[in-house]
Amino acid sequence: MEFKGKKVLVLGAGISGIAVARIIQNLKAEVILSDTKHKNEIKHDLNSLTDAGVRLALGPQDECLLKDVDYVVLSPGISIYSPLVEKAKEQGITVMSEIEVAYRLCQVPLVAITGTNGKTTTTTLIGEIIKAAGREVVVGGNIGLALSEEVCSVSKDGLVVAEISSFQLEGAIDFRPHIAAVLNLTPDHIDRHRSMENYQLMKERIFANQTEDDYVILNYDDLVVRHMADRASSQVVFFSSRTELPSGVYVKDGVIKMRWNGETTTISSINDLGIKGAHNVENALVACGAAYFLGVKADTIAEVLKNFGGVEHRIEPVLTVRGVPYYNDSKATNPESAIKALEAFDGNIILIAGGRDKNTDLTEFMTVAKEKLDYLILVGEAKTRFAEAADKHGIENVRLVNDFSSAVELAYSLAQPPQVVLLSPACASYDMFNNYEERGKVFKELVHQLQ
Ligand code: ADP
Repeated sequence: MEFKGKKVLVLGAGISGIAVARIIQNLKAEVILSDTKHKNEIKHDLNSLTDAGVRLALGPQDECLLKDVDYVVLSPGISIYSPLVEKAKEQGITVMSEIEVAYRLCQVPLVAITGTNGKTTTTTLIGEIIKAAGREVVVGGNIGLALSEEVCSVSKDGLVVAEISSFQLEGAIDFRPHIAAVLNLTPDHIDRHRSMENYQLMKERIFANQTEDDYVILNYDDLVVRHMADRASSQVVFFSSRTELPSGVYVKDGVIKMRWNGETTTISSINDLGIKGAHNVENALVACGAAYFLGVKADTIAEVLKNFGGVEHRIEPVLTVRGVPYYNDSKATNPESAIKALEAFDGNIILIAGGRDKNTDLTEFMTVAKEKLDYLILVGEAKTRFAEAADKHGIENVRLVNDFSSAVELAYSLAQPPQVVLLSPACASYDMFNNYEERGKVFKELVHQLQ
């Protein structure tokens, strides 16, 4: 294996960095794990790593770390533009991301999903479909364990499905999935990528090394993503929720169909999808496309689409109390995501929103809110700005509360069928919680206590 006997500097002592350091050390390389944080600031246990022979270099990083290094491996949190990485490149050292290491170790076909939104949902859904088809699969990337760790645990008949972020693609070199997908592209992380063009370029790396034996699934309805086809060497499979395609996966008269090599396969009615909202139809289309090329039968795909209720904290059904369903969409940390949730319902929504303000533009959010909401309950640091914006848009029935549990109690006291109660904050969680996961869990607990 190419890492044997090499000197490897791993940057970033988070989940991915620690996993990849351990794996490369096991391949008999000399590994240094470096992080600008000091040992007491690192949450993870590093003792087992040092016991295995990995050297730690914590605190300020300087150029001498690069001495005799063959490879620099980046955790997703480390930018390709960071000073030490720039120096490594100047010295001709190969710089790669953790997913590149994973790819080089992976012995089985890889399905890789990227896009600005919908990665976790689509990746998880594809994993469920492959499982239902009776094939061994590991699901990884941004989800839970590091990909480099996951690929080592799959047997030769298995498959790997991975969610891949633009950060991870910065350090892709030979990375070549058998099936790749780009869900959509809207401005995000531009501070790190420096421009929208560069962000797009990073996303395109997901298919850059593919050949005609591979497939790339692209969003026909997103013009930027549609035109990525011009640069693909693999077989392009478009998906569209709006247009009947001569070839690809699309919705016609409310039914998902796959047309390939002149043959059309009917997969499922969109009314039968377990996940809600137009955005989730798009995620389902990608999953159908990937599953089709993995040889999964249409009825198996349809069965999973029906039973898959989505990923935790994403329009997640919690409970029905006094005839009113409660939904947890804590992952909606910006207005764009919260709009998707509002659009997933016909109306009669009691929305709980607010949290740490990202000072995002609220025009579109309030326009949709006016149409869909019966009540807007606001909490957290952003509540005053949100209330002012709601007022400007003529939204009535706005209530401000002092804490999160009061928001749930107020929603409960107001709610009557056919209303729904939705937590979709359009804000970060850090003013009241450690992260969006904790916010969602607290919400679910409070809802369960209502009974
Ligand atoms: P990611 O992993 O890319 O962050 P998730 O599957 O976790 O995506 O979904 C996060 C949020 O993004 C969802 O709550 C929803 O608001 C929005 N979203 C999901 N899928 C899509 C899509 N296909 N298009 C646009 N927005 C989406």
